[in-house]
Amino acid sequence: MSLMCNNHKNLMTRVLSVPSAKAPFEQTTIERRELRPHDVLIDIKFSGICHSDIHSAHGEWGGGIFPMVPGHEIAGVVAAVGTEVTKFAVGDRVGIGCFVDSCGECEYCLSGEEQYCTKGVIATYNALDYDGNPTYGGYSQKIVVTEGFVVRIPDGLDLDVASPLLCAGITTYSPLKHWNAGPGKKVAIVGMGGLGHLAIQYAHAMGAEVTVLSRSLNKKSEALSFGADHYFATNDPATFTTLAGRFDLILNTVSANLDVDAYLSLLRVDGTLVNVGAPAESDQYNVFSLIMGRRSIAGSLVGGIRETQEMLDFSAQHGIAPKIEVIRADQVDEAYERVLRSDVRYRFVIDVSTL
Ligand SMILES: [Zn+2]
Ligand SMILES: [Zn+2]
Repeated sequence: MSLMCNNHKNLMTRVLSVPSAKAPFEQTTIERRELRPHDVLIDIKFSGICHSDIHSAHGEWGGGIFPMVPGHEIAGVVAAVGTEVTKFAVGDRVGIGCFVDSCGECEYCLSGEEQYCTKGVIATYNALDYDGNPTYGGYSQKIVVTEGFVVRIPDGLDLDVASPLLCAGITTYSPLKHWNAGPGKKVAIVGMGGLGHLAIQYAHAMGAEVTVLSRSLNKKSEALSFGADHYFATNDPATFTTLAGRFDLILNTVSANLDVDAYLSLLRVDGTLVNVGAPAESDQYNVFSLIMGRRSIAGSLVGGIRETQEMLDFSAQHGIAPKIEVIRADQVDEAYERVLRSDVRYRFVIDVSTL
């Protein structure tokens, strides 16, 4: 036994892999790289399923690199560290989000916004690293990542609920912080899925007045339990007259095309509509919808590593957690179909011990 524990050179790991676009998952093995001086080896315990995993595994975003091991909502425990690692020790509870490397030298890397690295940030899966090797994500028992892209999971967060925070959490926390959601601000959250149900909790904890805009009234009581102050159904046209000119900030978490002009009409002067959901087709809007209220349309891509740590600490401090359904490794194909039918409240998380 002790021989195996000390043998860090054996970096074979079981994974869930998609051999080609839209194919079902297969359980197979891959080899992770040997630890470099700054690398951390992580035993993955839970891996969240993000909607972008499905787009990628289906080859919808620029083809894709196959075989593919998706997963960028990773929570686990440090199993070994490289010789020069200082931030982490064996046994630490840690997470990996959407990125595993960046240049470390450009102005954005230096300011802690690695996601906008000018050399190109390296995605956790479906990417080539700076050596040209494909990256494989979190539907896996082990992963090796440089310590600068590893974050600490606070004791107050269980690993299963922590995993979706690594993408869904930071994707909503970062724009709410950037556009100053807080006391005295009226914030609308569009959509109440994996992203939206976290956005409500963050905006509420930051002190903003939170309104949920969802297609029907189905999720109203749950939205209020997450901290929403108001809830309106967007399938009721009266909603858009009632709420005209109301919001400082609208965070759109929906990936379908919206009637952008209708949503812009809900903003106050200087208000901003921020998109974190990305529709496949281009949105359309009338520029007068911006001009008449000095309004802005914006977008936001997850968040940097420092802010991801801040988000995890904030989540533990405020008792913020996603609502999850934990599944086995052999249920992932079925889970994908359920996500596409919006039949999940609100995030699937793979129990990696079932791999
Ligand atoms: Zn994601
Ligand atoms: Zn950079």
